[in-house]
Amino acid sequence: MKKIILTGDRPTGRLHVGHYVGSLKERVKLQNSNEYDEIYIMIADAQALTDNAEHPEKVRQNIMQVALDYLAVGLDPEKSILFIQSMVPQLTELTFYYMNLVTVSRVQRNPTVKAEIQMRGFETSIPVGFFCYPISQAADITAFHATVVPVGEDQMPMLEQCKEIVHKFNSVYGETLTDPQIKLPDNASCLRLPGIDGKAKMSKSLGNCIYLSEEPEEIRKKVMSMFTDPNHLRVEDPGQVEGNPVFIYLDAFCRPEYFAEFLPEYENLDQLKDHYRRGGLGDVKVKKFLNNVIQAELAPIRERRKYWEQRLPEVYEILREGSRKAEQKAAQTLREVRHAMRIDYFEDNNLLK
Ligand code: ATP
Ligand code: MG
Repeated sequence: MKKIILTGDRPTGRLHVGHYVGSLKERVKLQNSNEYDEIYIMIADAQALTDNAEHPEKVRQNIMQVALDYLAVGLDPEKSILFIQSMVPQLTELTFYYMNLVTVSRVQRNPTVKAEIQMRGFETSIPVGFFCYPISQAADITAFHATVVPVGEDQMPMLEQCKEIVHKFNSVYGETLTDPQIKLPDNASCLRLPGIDGKAKMSKSLGNCIYLSEEPEEIRKKVMSMFTDPNHLRVEDPGQVEGNPVFIYLDAFCRPEYFAEFLPEYENLDQLKDHYRRGGLGDVKVKKFLNNVIQAELAPIRERRKYWEQRLPEVYEILREGSRKAEQKAAQTLREVRHAMRIDYFEDNNLLK
């Protein structure tokens, strides 16, 4: 069986360091392992419109921003097909057929959908399209026969729901769709990076992000303003490392060599954490170190982004060509689906048989 990746991001803003550690970094690693036969990376504009119907311009503006972020982190259009969701209309048709295989109460139980409905303040006025986005996500994944989906932890319920749709479809219409596996980051701190405000998830919609394209001074300001242990008031006080965003970020971003480079009085992160727990280590010192670490990680990304910002027509062509290839693949799957459902009436005079 071919090894195929599908994953993507909503063009609701520029991408941030949560996306980077939660999914982008893993994608680049998988891409460069050369172990995959096909890699599809989708800018999910149709999904973004499900809760931004009145702001199409915001979605449109962010398509190029997300594409630039992709190229900046090292996604390579020679190896990965970068495409725009709504340019592949077969995904919408698949969604429509899958809707019949899912109950309303099943979607209502999806914990990520529940949390997002609350976060967006929809209460009872939930757009039907938004409510159905886990189903459209199953269409995205299965349209490419994806075997691996590298995403952050918030996507686990989506993958479960997708697998249920695959099993249901295959049992009703015969073996057609491919059962995908989720690929979460190995590092536990990267599963769901908290916001700089300490909120459970860094999210474009919450405005608590450090963006990949951010300038150094802006990053420094954000790091220095980060939420830490609220009970660690004086330097001498013992501090808590667990659940402390500054240490979660260090767990997510720090490489051993950064100690020699930026903080040589400590050998490693464990020593730094022990000192913080004992007391006598101030937040400012830890934040300055974290700032150096994040700056070192983001500098090459920012540079590559600037390179591509000078070449927007090329980026546009990459998306156009990627969308064309993605459409070909999805059209093939749709033919298989229609055949399995016996609604391919005009193929080989099927309706007459
Ligand atoms: P929105 O608020 O519009 O939903 P978002 O910031 O949640 O935006 P998405 O485009 O929904 O971003 O998610 C893209 C990918 O990034 C998904 O794989 C998701 O799991 C991952 N991701 C998003 N936020 C984080 C985070 N804070 N930590 C780890 N992974 C994340
Ligand atoms: Mg999201």
